[in-house]
Amino acid sequence: KTVYFNGSFMDKEAVSISPDDRGFLFADGLYEVIRSYQGVLFRPKDHIARLSHGARHLKLSRTDFSEFVQIAQVLLEKNGLLSGDATVYFQVTRGEATRSHAFPLNTPEPTVYAFASKFDALNGEKIKAQGINAITVADQRWARCDMKTTALTANVLANQAAVEQNAKEAIFIRDGVLLEGTHSNFMAVMDNVLVTAPLSNYILGGITRKVIVEFCERENIPLEFGPIFEKDVPSVQEMMVVGTTLEITPIVKLNHSPIGDGRPGRITKKLQALLKGEIERCQTN
Ligand code: PLP
Repeated sequence: KTVYFNGSFMDKEAVSISPDDRGFLFADGLYEVIRSYQGVLFRPKDHIARLSHGARHLKLSRTDFSEFVQIAQVLLEKNGLLSGDATVYFQVTRGEATRSHAFPLNTPEPTVYAFASKFDALNGEKIKAQGINAITVADQRWARCDMKTTALTANVLANQAAVEQNAKEAIFIRDGVLLEGTHSNFMAVMDNVLVTAPLSNYILGGITRKVIVEFCERENIPLEFGPIFEKDVPSVQEMMVVGTTLEITPIVKLNHSPIGDGRPGRITKKLQALLKGEIERCQTN
């Protein structure tokens, strides 16, 4: 398997990361996951822009990652992933330095690691068609969820809680509001209006969410940025999680209770069709 590490493409086995790396010691770093369909990356520039946003706020010594688009393309090629679905993972940490909380005095080069993997599209299709079970959990994350940092302990624990309850995703609740999933944004249909949390420091600005917002504007689908309160869940018509890996996946049961009629809803299916069309359009451009 060919990966990218600090400026070079190499065999994965040849990668050596210092135990003093601040990614290892402090989770002091960022990551991105970009999807590719038949070798074509989906909205790579949006992912790179989000990485730059995080890097500026973390005050990393590097904030321009525009060359990552090319690196992602080479990783797909070198790993035989130009056909079918794949994902490319990027991680950037503050680099290697003697352990001390504050930034190192002699600014190290950020550590950069990237790899490409095949995506199980068949399973993805099944999940999108049938919908998933989800649970809710208290949001125990920090208050800068707009940065895609590798400090994912709260997300790991929440997703594990979901798996232990035979569910695929956990939705974080803060102050009575359902905000987003452990690796997805969250949307609901209430009174025939699609509702999702407004952008803030409490959610990640998802690329899939952004694409769906564009669809709603283009297709006149009623959309509102606002809170989805836990107390209003019983009257929700449809629910979905959206993201790079889950695309648009219906939630058909929340905390073991059916949502709507327990099947993927009308607006969810419409958005799924629009996303499919958008992916196909990217193939031919
Ligand atoms: N929210 C969180 C916490 C995530 O980890 C992710 C992503 O992967 C998303 C939302 C969805 O973002 P995107 O659509 O860019 O994958």
